[in-house]
Amino acid sequence: MKKSPTELFELHRDHAPEQAKTSVDYRLKKLELLRKALKGPWREELARALEKDFGKSAVEVGLTEIFPTLDNLKMLRDNLKGWLKPQRVKTPLPLIGTTSYTRAEPKGATLVIAPWNYPIFLSLHPLSTSFAAGNTVILKPSEHTPHTSAALARLVEEIFDEKEVAVVQGGVEESTELLSQKFNHIFFTGSTAVGKIVMKAASVHLTSVTLELGGKSPTIVDHSAKAFEAGMRVAWAKFTNSGQICIAPDHVYVHESKVGEFKAGVLKALEKYYGPNATQSNDYVQLVHDRHLERIKAMGAEAATTGTPWTSHYGEEKDRKLAPMVVLNPDKESACMREEIFGPLLPVFSYSDIDEVLKEVNGREHPLVVYIYSKSQKNIRHIQNNTRAGATAVNMSLLQIANNNLPFGGIGHSGMGKTNGKAGFMEFTNTRSEFYQWGPPVNKLLSAPFTASKAKIVDLLIKYLY
Ligand code: NAD
Repeated sequence: MKKSPTELFELHRDHAPEQAKTSVDYRLKKLELLRKALKGPWREELARALEKDFGKSAVEVGLTEIFPTLDNLKMLRDNLKGWLKPQRVKTPLPLIGTTSYTRAEPKGATLVIAPWNYPIFLSLHPLSTSFAAGNTVILKPSEHTPHTSAALARLVEEIFDEKEVAVVQGGVEESTELLSQKFNHIFFTGSTAVGKIVMKAASVHLTSVTLELGGKSPTIVDHSAKAFEAGMRVAWAKFTNSGQICIAPDHVYVHESKVGEFKAGVLKALEKYYGPNATQSNDYVQLVHDRHLERIKAMGAEAATTGTPWTSHYGEEKDRKLAPMVVLNPDKESACMREEIFGPLLPVFSYSDIDEVLKEVNGREHPLVVYIYSKSQKNIRHIQNNTRAGATAVNMSLLQIANNNLPFGGIGHSGMGKTNGKAGFMEFTNTRSEFYQWGPPVNKLLSAPFTASKAKIVDLLIKYLY
């Protein structure tokens, strides 16, 4: 009989100490099965599921879901043994006769909660990393991609034992039930609002959390930028997945001297990628559900009442595809500037004074990324030094996530903790310190009674050591 979320948690909690003792070879063998499955029959099955959920082409699924998931599996295969080896640390002089190490040990029973926008990658990346670290994993994928979530459940069942990795399908109810359990770590990817719910629930048990959240990532195109090329790159990044990407450029500030060039680049890219009307293109992605579609449509319509639309077919809709909406200088009090957009709407603002732009950026919560298009090193430094964000990307958008060696994450309202590479792996482990005394201990020399000669030694240590 199917287990409830609580029963599954109990199974994992009881099994976690055994899972922690599994060998690196055992874990890598399981991950190898996952790699083979993703390269083999499951690639097609998952693509079919995503096509049903999102209308996404199999090529795009291969490129943006399967490819990065495999890249992470390769990274784990190449590095796991090294990451798990005890790391020797230096010994200070007064502790001569000792050796110290750190060791990455598994946290225990872990929970991964995933969103709908990249449902395969954002589920299997943390799942594989946590499993590699020696944890049990319960994955709760999104209810908004039901076909993909069901396929993920079947895939996991085929490869893993239920007591080591399991999938709980469902929505808020199942998620809430899981969040009430005493997990040892929660890795959450999703909205800032739900991130707060997760952290509150975790605080009851003092469970550690990694929160990969959202926000309004600004792009700045300065007076020195190659603005036509910037327009093309920003349009690519914004309208891939119809803007449903956590690190999509949310809005853009373009220096007033470059607005025309930037606009030409945006329009050229849209025509090149999706033809005269994106809603007719098989490669343009749907919005995930009707409520989301209506939200973005309303935002776009409101922005167009005060701003100047740049795109033809602005906001037209077909089969849950919403034509790209690029709008110049809408009212900054509009909904599109109060909330994360997460859809195919791009507000563009012309500016003359970069410090005014920075003031505005800093008036909002810290974003995941600040994108800069510029040829001026001085400007790039100035923008970096005067903003806070999870990342900066210069003269390109989105591609920073493709470097799995680069830690990825937010700050403040855009998240806490990191994913990707060693930093991401470490989130799923406890760095345990190990201290070995093999020579005579220092306290032999320096314990009470504190005689005059001992006082002298302390004086000498303070005087010459530091
Ligand atoms: P969401 O926060 O609505 O949902 C994420 C997950 O949380 C889902 O599995 C959902 O079932 C669960 N959930 C929803 N409401 C809940 C509640 N009240 N209690 C407990 N669990 C709940 O996010 P979404 O709409 O699926 O995804 C879009 C958001 O995710 C955007 O804000 C985007 O920026 C963010 N995101 C961030 C990253 C990142 O890596 N930083 C990546 C992708 C998406």
